[in-house]
Amino acid sequence: MIPGQFSYHRPGTLRDAVKLLADLGDEARPLAGGHSLIPMMKLRLATPEHLVDLAGIGELKGIRRDGDAIVIGAMTTQNELLASGEIASSLPILHETALLIADPQVRYRGTVGGNVANGDPGNDMPALMLTLGATYRLKGPAGDRDVAARDFYQGAYFTALEPGEILASVSIPVPPSGHGYAYEKLKRKIGDYATAAAAVVLTMKGGKVATCSIGLTNLSETPLLAEEAAQAVIGTTLDDAVLKKAAAAAIEIMSPAGDGRGPVEYRKHVGGIMVERALKRGAARAA
Ligand code: FAD
Repeated sequence: MIPGQFSYHRPGTLRDAVKLLADLGDEARPLAGGHSLIPMMKLRLATPEHLVDLAGIGELKGIRRDGDAIVIGAMTTQNELLASGEIASSLPILHETALLIADPQVRYRGTVGGNVANGDPGNDMPALMLTLGATYRLKGPAGDRDVAARDFYQGAYFTALEPGEILASVSIPVPPSGHGYAYEKLKRKIGDYATAAAAVVLTMKGGKVATCSIGLTNLSETPLLAEEAAQAVIGTTLDDAVLKKAAAAAIEIMSPAGDGRGPVEYRKHVGGIMVERALKRGAARAA
């Protein structure tokens, strides 16, 4: 399929990009790696008249430590996440998840900003950002604002981004050393989006779960934070009965679409299994 006609713009600074988007209005869209937007344009599900390519903006790139947080520029690619020693040591769940996205070709182009700003329930990074308590820095014609990932997702392809705003960076608090983590993703084949996936970050003390956060991918129109499921495991040794209770609490909040990846009941069932597996693997990893 061939996309409709559009004009291509390549600003060199974030300021110019914000101005361009404001001037061009509703029919302009930022372009990052293009691995979600261009396929949508080829299917004519997106028909922007202007693409504002963010690739030439140096200030949107890079991974840096800022006190107790890691700040990742929106145009950092998934492959750059995989190559980062800082990510591997401070946020290993991000490394694990990036490796489960698509295939190397997609990961060389696809960006962190594009993945979290897209609003596709199938994207893997958003649930992870909820689990880790990340904050997004948005830049627009009215200035800068920070939005918690937990408040960002409003529906499929609907986010807190206002027209003309660009997601500039993602700030993630570094979990304590010795934390356990796991991202469990069921997919039909290598390179596929999740049929169901669960992210877990937890800490253990004296053999019991001290803190826990659980996120869910592709089990609703938006990424989900399974708060009751996480509460159900805190203070326990994570025996089988607790794992089942946590899975049941997570299933309660799931509302996946029935589609080529399976009917609703199947997706909820395997969603519960992903929660159990991620909890078990996360606990085994915790110091
Ligand atoms: P783009 O496609 O350029 O943009 C996506 C959307 O976000 C557009 O609406 C764009 O306007 C907007 N946008 C981009 N950057 C910004 C910004 N900084 N500020 C504001 N808005 C912005 N993803 C997964 O998570 N898991 C998978 O398993 C997976 N499998 C895939 C398999 C294939 C074959 C392909 C082609 C893609 C797959 N993807 C998957 C999607 C891939 O990870 C995309 O790269 C990613 O979702 C979007 O990132 P991008 O940089 O390509 O963004």
